[in-house]
Amino acid sequence: MRKSLERISWQMRDFAALIDDRGVEVPLLCLSPALVRRLLMEAVFRQLEWAIGGKLGLPARACSDVVHEALASKRYSPLERGTIRAWICRAVWAWVYARSKGHDFPEFCELCGAARDTLFHRLWVCPCLDRQRREAVGDEVVDGIVDFVSKGKQRLVLATRGGMAHPGDEHPPPLEEGSWDVVWSRDPPSENLFQMQGTIFIDGSCSRHVVKELNRASWCAALFSEENELLCTMKCPVWAPLPQTPQAGEFSGYWGATMCLAGPSALYTDCANVKLQHELPRDAQTFFK
Ligand SMILES: [Zn+2]
Repeated sequence: MRKSLERISWQMRDFAALIDDRGVEVPLLCLSPALVRRLLMEAVFRQLEWAIGGKLGLPARACSDVVHEALASKRYSPLERGTIRAWICRAVWAWVYARSKGHDFPEFCELCGAARDTLFHRLWVCPCLDRQRREAVGDEVVDGIVDFVSKGKQRLVLATRGGMAHPGDEHPPPLEEGSWDVVWSRDPPSENLFQMQGTIFIDGSCSRHVVKELNRASWCAALFSEENELLCTMKCPVWAPLPQTPQAGEFSGYWGATMCLAGPSALYTDCANVKLQHELPRDAQTFFK
């Protein structure tokens, strides 16, 4: 198992904790096996992204989330989606590339015959496809693309493969602790500001980004008096290594609020899964998922 973890740059710190490839602790006693499996799978994909980034000549992991979003869209026919897959996977070889691999093809474009046959020429330059190109992406993109890619090889990768250097390593990662804010609109009943009891409404949310690793989830809880007066609100991001998803926000809200309970309380949620999960008997709640 240690060898397998090393392959994805993970470490086993002790019997109860793994350290993932980004240095985040994965506490085995707090996470379900299904969630640990998901985190392992994501790490395997990150390794693949590093390998792809190296092949494309990027300084970081490759990110193809923009292409994945296009593949999930109903805008494209199955044939078009297959073509997009072929482009991003480098299954389409222009003649210049095929010649560099020893195949005997002519060097110049089959349609216009005026320029060398590269992917960039086929997609963006060849005058024989100008009308279709302008219909597909508009004049502004077509007219600006040569200038755009002249500013770096990474831009050429984006223009021909739909891949880019992954912003997930530059962007601040999800917090592992802290930022658990609490605000009382009245004098708090005890010195510990994080203790509450009564009628509590909880909610979770997630801000979405086309690059999935930049999604960020958080939760909040609001305490009301019997006279329906707002007494206290608390909010907190969903901490790593939990997934940054709306569901993780809803469940973190439940557990965050529960940890602060100082006495009998009623919790209200708008998430059916949270409600169903916590209505189950105790032994069913520890189901492996
Ligand atoms: Zn041409």
